[in-house]
Amino acid sequence: MPRQEPSSLQRLVAQIRRLAPYSSGNRLYFCLMALSILVASMTEPLIPALMKPLLDQGFQAGALKLWIIPVALLGLFGVRGAASFCAQYLLALMSNRTMHRLRTQLFLRLQNAHPSLYSSSTSSSLINTVVYEVQIGTNLLVNALLSLIKDSLTLLALVAYLLFLNWQLTLIVVAVFPFVAWVMKVLSKRLHALSKSTQTATDELAYVVEENVLAYRTIRLHNAHASQSARFDALNTRLKHLAMKSTVAHSAMTPVTQLLAAVALSAVICIALWQSASSGSTVGGFVAFTTAMLMLVAPMKHLSEVAGPVTRGFTAIERGLDLLELTITETGGTHKPSGRLSSASIAFKNVSVRYPSSQTQALTHLNLIINAGETVAFVGPSGSGKTTLANTLARFVDASEGEILVDGVDVRQWDLAALRSHMAFVSQDVVMLSGTVAENVALGEAVDRKRAQSAIELAHLGEYVAQLALGMDTQVGHNALTLSGGQRQRLAIARAIYKDAPILVLDEATSALDAQSEQAVKEALQTLTKGRTTLVIAHRFSTIEHASRIVVMEGGKIAEMGSHAQLMQLQGVYFRLRQLDGRAVSAASPHAHLAAS
Ligand code: ADP
Repeated sequence: MPRQEPSSLQRLVAQIRRLAPYSSGNRLYFCLMALSILVASMTEPLIPALMKPLLDQGFQAGALKLWIIPVALLGLFGVRGAASFCAQYLLALMSNRTMHRLRTQLFLRLQNAHPSLYSSSTSSSLINTVVYEVQIGTNLLVNALLSLIKDSLTLLALVAYLLFLNWQLTLIVVAVFPFVAWVMKVLSKRLHALSKSTQTATDELAYVVEENVLAYRTIRLHNAHASQSARFDALNTRLKHLAMKSTVAHSAMTPVTQLLAAVALSAVICIALWQSASSGSTVGGFVAFTTAMLMLVAPMKHLSEVAGPVTRGFTAIERGLDLLELTITETGGTHKPSGRLSSASIAFKNVSVRYPSSQTQALTHLNLIINAGETVAFVGPSGSGKTTLANTLARFVDASEGEILVDGVDVRQWDLAALRSHMAFVSQDVVMLSGTVAENVALGEAVDRKRAQSAIELAHLGEYVAQLALGMDTQVGHNALTLSGGQRQRLAIARAIYKDAPILVLDEATSALDAQSEQAVKEALQTLTKGRTTLVIAHRFSTIEHASRIVVMEGGKIAEMGSHAQLMQLQGVYFRLRQLDGRAVSAASPHAHLAAS
């Protein structure tokens, strides 16, 4: 049996239920707001009610005291205004508290999401969700909710007054309501579908912009402007069409409902005039009735327009809620060593890794033991699994089979923060965060200036930092664009020195350095690696000759293992690789996403 589509109302109830936990703690504000809205709505029928005595008695001399008119009007509008202000303020307070909580939780979720989130979503779509969609959604919903409550109460109060005045005529007015509801239902369903498509297209557009910003050099070098413009244009045009379709659906609501209101209005006026000839109704009574009825149009109009923002608002918030509720978080174990380990061994036992998006295994039944304090170099062609192997240590990638032991404990049993605090990564793509040089060196820890200075010196960045205007208190620009490749890498080395972790992963740590600083950094690294368990993912032979062991990887497996001399003697893969190229072991893998330190 095909699954039945939920109705608009069911969807709305489900959406409200999903959002409710994030807006808890607002009960008092909600009650106060409801009270304010109730007061404001109750004042509405008083306006037409004032008409009756005014018209029936006001024009007879002496029947109505004149001072009553300003007192009644000012009192009425004073109470109405104050109540409306309170309602609006309280609603904004509740919504901003909800938005703040949602955003906080979303950011937390980004921080503890399983790394697979980052390969399945683009950064632009995550930014859209956390920064914009939540804001747009909440704003739309707040205004819609205010109108929904206020206008339905006003409508109820006015209808009650109308029933009191003339219930037969009121029934004609009420008969229009189901038609209005039907129009709203049909159009809001269409709006929901359009909002979803708009979100997807906006994400895609943002992604094109993101790529064009990040890869502007490549695009210019390859003269790829035209194809990129075509991509952008197609999405931009699609968004324009979607926006126009939404506008049609949204704008059609008002005229259609107003037309229905006009039908009721004309029927009421005709019947009322016809009735007045036979019954003894007064002019005041008639005017009060028609005024109240005309006053129905405004809240009805607002209510008919509310479906658009509610649908769009919930569609926007849904993305945030999906991210919160459907994203798998990374879960660690509970193992925490009592203090920080000064050294740690690593063991790979029958480890296989398969990426969800890939058919083949990146690592296949790999067995390897690295003793505490040992330096092991990994070489092998690009795509042989070196980066994957390093990423499994900090659990950025999980083994699909087998186990990885750090200090004799399976990494899945380790508390994640404790596990990662024992590792420092120096990788090819060094990521600098906004902040000062010192903050970048001490990343995640309080800045100890002496320690930071010594790390900077050891990484051979002392001279460079000293000539900066504010020394180590200089801000590194966004993603450290102001630093050269070599300087960035040395900053990453300083970061690793500062972290002083027992396990060190160096991914081609000296590739971007000039000959002079390469030598200096090599010396610094030798001091750094002393006593630490070090994995060197080597792309140059010069960096590996000091390793106690060289592991040669091929197709996710260990092809050979031994010292440089042993491997040369073996005349196998290592020997061939060396013969092929005197220096470069492999080109940088395009998939090399080793976590930056
Ligand atoms: P290396 O570091 O030796 O160049 P990698 O560990 O980067 O090798 O890659 C090993 C294999 O896994 C390659 O076939 C690569 O295409 C694949 N791979 C790496 N990262 C991913 C990923 N995020 N998703 C899918 N496949 C990947």
